[in-house]
Amino acid sequence: MKVLVNGAGIGGLCAAYEFASRGALVTLKECNSSIGGNPSWQAGGMLAPWCEGESAEDCVVGLGIRALDWWKTVFPDEVVNNGTLVVAAPRDVAELNRFGSQTTNFEVVDGTGISDLEPHLSGRFRKGLFFSKEAHIDPRRAMQLLHEKLLELGVDIQLGVEGQQDAPGFDFIVNSVGMKQKDVRLRGVRGEMLIVRTPDVSLSRPVRLLHPRIPLYIVPRADHHFMIGATMIESDAELRPTVRAVVELLNASFTLHPAFAEAEIVEMNSGVRPAYADNVPRVERSGRLITINGFYRHGYLTAPTLAQQAADMAFEAARTGELTS
Ligand SMILES: Cc1cc2nc3c(=O)[nH]c(=O)nc-3n(C[C@H](O)[C@H](O)[C@H](O)COP(=O)(O)OP(=O)(O)OC[C@H]3O[C@@H](n4cnc5c(N)ncnc54)[C@H](O)[C@@H]3O)c2cc1C
Repeated sequence: MKVLVNGAGIGGLCAAYEFASRGALVTLKECNSSIGGNPSWQAGGMLAPWCEGESAEDCVVGLGIRALDWWKTVFPDEVVNNGTLVVAAPRDVAELNRFGSQTTNFEVVDGTGISDLEPHLSGRFRKGLFFSKEAHIDPRRAMQLLHEKLLELGVDIQLGVEGQQDAPGFDFIVNSVGMKQKDVRLRGVRGEMLIVRTPDVSLSRPVRLLHPRIPLYIVPRADHHFMIGATMIESDAELRPTVRAVVELLNASFTLHPAFAEAEIVEMNSGVRPAYADNVPRVERSGRLITINGFYRHGYLTAPTLAQQAADMAFEAARTGELTS
């Protein structure tokens, strides 16, 4: 089977991997001249299906649980299986109770439990929720490692090349181009983020700080770096982060730990998340064109499962003799 994958965001990379590892001859075309620089590059890398159940449909939680297994199988040394800790200031305990009522698969922890999990948060919070089955990954490393794995699998990776959805000579064309997809059902939800560095804070897992107006998460990365995210703005404008977003995210980070006030700002960035009206990602097939899109805030959380669904569709069509080219 010859497959063209358009787009090397997390959607296209996972799709290319899934097809190539099942034996397809895959060409991957990415219009940027390198892997990265797209919304997938700006992500937190949280693999947090149960936390996301706070606002996501049950089916997204299910897609995420399957994808978590995929990440652990494909990148056993990269996935950090330390769970997620959700906290709120004592005055915002109602937020914590609301979050708990909308999610499952967590245990309630008190101040001692929080300091056992994250000693640097000792004495700062009285109550939290611990989602022990969740994980996280460095998204940029994940993209680079997927790139390497694709080369090992013999994928023809063409960077700086625009892919076409009607290119001849392929049995299937998988379009995973995010906001570049011409589809009136898609909308953009911009997310702004920062990367800071401080040796004065140490965290072992993503920590979510609930707040009625400015919820925040901080994801630890290597070498004392922390990703702070993320805003959710109903707009597809590809702007740099606004002053307001940066100020609010940084202010909220001091609430989590005052040492963030002295952190160096390493990067400020933003990305537009592609989303359908229900915020559920989809794999859709029309003849030899398979479209994967609508990842919203769940690209890392769900792309592997959607890639599996796309490959299942194509290989089933091949098995039943339905290939069209
Ligand atoms: C700040 C922020 C934090 C986030 N945190 C998380 C998180 O913690 N966990 C999580 O699961 N998700 C997270 N997300 C969501 C996740 O990043 C998105 O869901 C994901 O990036 C969408 O991936 P994609 O592959 O569909 O699109 P993109 O990343 O936009 O990739 C599409 C690619 O297609 C290329 N392209 C476009 N047109 C063409 C063409 N014609 N030919 C070839 N190439 C083309 C583009 O250049 C681009 O590289 C976050 C997003 C943001 C912005």
